[in-house]
Amino acid sequence: MTQTPKNIAIAGSGLVGSLLAIYLRRLGHTVTVFDRRPDIRTIRFSGRSINLAMSNRGWKALREVGLEDAIKEIAIPLDKRAMHLLDEEVYYQKYGKEGEAIWSISRGVLNRRMIDLAEEAGASFRFNEKVWDVNLPEAKLYTGETEKSEWKEYSYDIIFGCDGAFSRIRHKMQRRSRFDYSQHFIDVGYKELTIPPNEDGTHKLDKNSFHIWPRGKFMFIAMPNLDGSFTCTLFLPFEGEVSFENLKTKEEARAFFKKYFPNVMQDIENLAEDFLSNPTSAMVTMKCFPWTYWDKVALVGDSAHAVVPFYGQGMNAGFEDIYVLNQLMRELGDDWEQIFKTYERKRKPNADAIAELSYRNFIEMSSKTADPMFLLQKKIEKRFSAKYPEKWIPAYSRVTFSDRPYAEALEIGDRQEAIMKEVMAHPQIEEEWDSEMVEKMILERL
Ligand SMILES: Cc1cc2nc3c(=O)[nH]c(=O)nc-3n(C[C@H](O)[C@H](O)[C@H](O)COP(=O)(O)OP(=O)(O)OC[C@H]3O[C@@H](n4cnc5c(N)ncnc54)[C@H](O)[C@@H]3O)c2cc1C
Repeated sequence: MTQTPKNIAIAGSGLVGSLLAIYLRRLGHTVTVFDRRPDIRTIRFSGRSINLAMSNRGWKALREVGLEDAIKEIAIPLDKRAMHLLDEEVYYQKYGKEGEAIWSISRGVLNRRMIDLAEEAGASFRFNEKVWDVNLPEAKLYTGETEKSEWKEYSYDIIFGCDGAFSRIRHKMQRRSRFDYSQHFIDVGYKELTIPPNEDGTHKLDKNSFHIWPRGKFMFIAMPNLDGSFTCTLFLPFEGEVSFENLKTKEEARAFFKKYFPNVMQDIENLAEDFLSNPTSAMVTMKCFPWTYWDKVALVGDSAHAVVPFYGQGMNAGFEDIYVLNQLMRELGDDWEQIFKTYERKRKPNADAIAELSYRNFIEMSSKTADPMFLLQKKIEKRFSAKYPEKWIPAYSRVTFSDRPYAEALEIGDRQEAIMKEVMAHPQIEEEWDSEMVEKMILERL
């Protein structure tokens, strides 16, 4: 079904806003995108160069509008994890089956490319225009320099709020009766750091791996860039014995890297420098409902569902929102009220599921990786899954390499966990973990 062209505004030119602009232009709508920031293409370095892992759901949404190849040019495939345990040789774990990979991509580089592509598709951008308010029933936007300055008013047929986890559009929806809202900050923060390339421009670590240094309550990760550098993220508690609170000087930062991450010693000056100069950021899970207001306004991406980044799915989930919206626009034509109702009904359980999975991964990475029984359980699951790949698909693969709903991945993951709880309760499990008896126990319970 085709749609009658509408005049549409998008608040936010981030990854979700710019991809949505491309989709809406392909459907023939007039699209104006507002962003409070200057044009990211004119900024050399924003100081926070997060790297993202793009996986199956993200690629699927890009493929639908013919952009997969263009974006793969600026991404690097990672087919394995490189685990850097303290005092041990680095070891590698394949992510999935042959050919399965996640892709490392710089958020800044991707955002610039997406805005270029949205402009090529005919969308207009208004940078340095912060949306302060929205009139929901009349689809009007108000922008201006400050909250108190004189505002400009713009009228549209439809407004999409793609303005991130602290959305102004959602803020207005929150003031309505029966609007559910919750946010939860974790007690761990993060900092972006860089490992520069070798002098000849090559990477200092294996470039097709996602590098992880798990250290119990904290963790360091590194993802490759095209220029030979690695963008690293240090996840560390805000307070406590080893924490941001207790690492204040360059000497302290240097000593910290030396003690816990000895194989990045050659870059220690760089890391300690970045540690002091780069900001520390917080991580939040945000849930809300409804996501739409009649046929006028809809939230998409982080503005509707922000998750902690431990499954690498925030952007992927936002891109999947757009894929689903597009399907509904094609099926339901001009019935925008129905499009929006169906969209939020379909997506909300999946957004809640990826929020839960991401939070669990945070707990798993921060506290369970040091527990020998947990590691044994993972070993048993891996062995079983290798032998019966059709019967036991790990939750990570269901989330990352499939497009089945997140809610299904969570539900099956819970069932698998219940089975493993019984298996792990077996008194001889430590001696018998690789026996036929254990295999039979799992098979009987599936
Ligand atoms: C450390 C970290 C690692 C991550 N890793 C991954 C990963 O590996 N894989 C993955 O899929 N996801 C990852 N994510 C999540 C991902 O970054 C987000 O889900 C994604 O950026 C959301 O895109 P968005 O466009 O919805 O929101 P945002 O990227 O937040 O963009 C919002 C845009 O709206 C603009 N804006 C805000 N308010 C206003 C206003 N009032 N008026 C006008 N404009 C406004 C902002 O300037 C911005 O341009 C990670 C997140 C973090 C923090």
